[in-house]
Amino acid sequence: MRFRMHAFAPTMHVLDSIEALRAARRALVGTVAFVPTMGYLHEGHLSLMRAGLQRCDHLIVSIYVNPTQFGPNEDLSRYPRDPQGDRLRCEREGCALLFMPSNAEMYPTGHATHVSVSGLTEGLCATSRPGHFEGVATIVTKLFNIVQPDVALFGEKDYQQLAVIRRLVRDLDLTTEIVGCPIVREDDGLAMSSRNRFLQPEDRLPARSLHAALSLAADAWAGGERDAGQLVELARTHIERHDGARVDYIECVHPENLRAHERGRLIATDEGAIMALAVFVGSTRLIDNMRLDGPTHDRPADRAQP
Ligand code: AMP
Repeated sequence: MRFRMHAFAPTMHVLDSIEALRAARRALVGTVAFVPTMGYLHEGHLSLMRAGLQRCDHLIVSIYVNPTQFGPNEDLSRYPRDPQGDRLRCEREGCALLFMPSNAEMYPTGHATHVSVSGLTEGLCATSRPGHFEGVATIVTKLFNIVQPDVALFGEKDYQQLAVIRRLVRDLDLTTEIVGCPIVREDDGLAMSSRNRFLQPEDRLPARSLHAALSLAADAWAGGERDAGQLVELARTHIERHDGARVDYIECVHPENLRAHERGRLIATDEGAIMALAVFVGSTRLIDNMRLDGPTHDRPADRAQP
């Protein structure tokens, strides 16, 4: 008897029009989880898909490199793409519908409406990426209206983005439940990112220093350090010891409102603290963060090298 692989695997449909996606989504019986991405998928993205299918009956993934969240001097044109590989990865994860729209589909001529979330979009990444979160909020609102998901999953790697989306959903009374998922890391601690493919071999050590610096700050927190200034300086000093790493920002912020903890004033333990940072390694801008008062299993054993 011949064995036919995938004989009973449900087929994934790849769609590029809003109309086709809406029709296919309406035909799905049961709950729908949604994972919006810009593609070049890695284990971080796949972890969101798996978390989605643990919660819902069906998974919809979008792959769309959204031009409105890139600034004029950013890496839109060289953003890595692998549509064929991404299709296979989504299919293997059990994705029902893969939405891969064009720019013309998402932003037809005359498009003039933007979604802007205030407060949370000041500081951190917004300082060096003006307009970025308006682009994110606009595309996520559009995708939610198209996909109508019960649950949408986002990575804590983009911590500010997750906070903005939670705010947006509350403020606009959207019905989608937002689930944040932990950062997936390489063995050496580097947070997985599509942009890691731009790292040269000599960039690896400075790139590792982000996680090592966050771990140092979390260790200092565990040892009783509560001065945001000291925590930030500890992380900054560690990163700046590496040639080829240039700090964009390092901040110790409140986990919900993202307000920077004032330097020199002790952080009350019940306030909680996230350390968030962005660092240029070569020409690649990497971001990472860690909950300083979080569970220690967030922090694998690789500690900062002396
Ligand atoms: P992107 O394709 O970079 O727009 O990311 C799509 C989603 O994957 C976002 O919700 C990201 O936060 C999430 N993500 C990216 N990298 C990771 C990672 N290393 N661990 C967990 N989630 C991630």
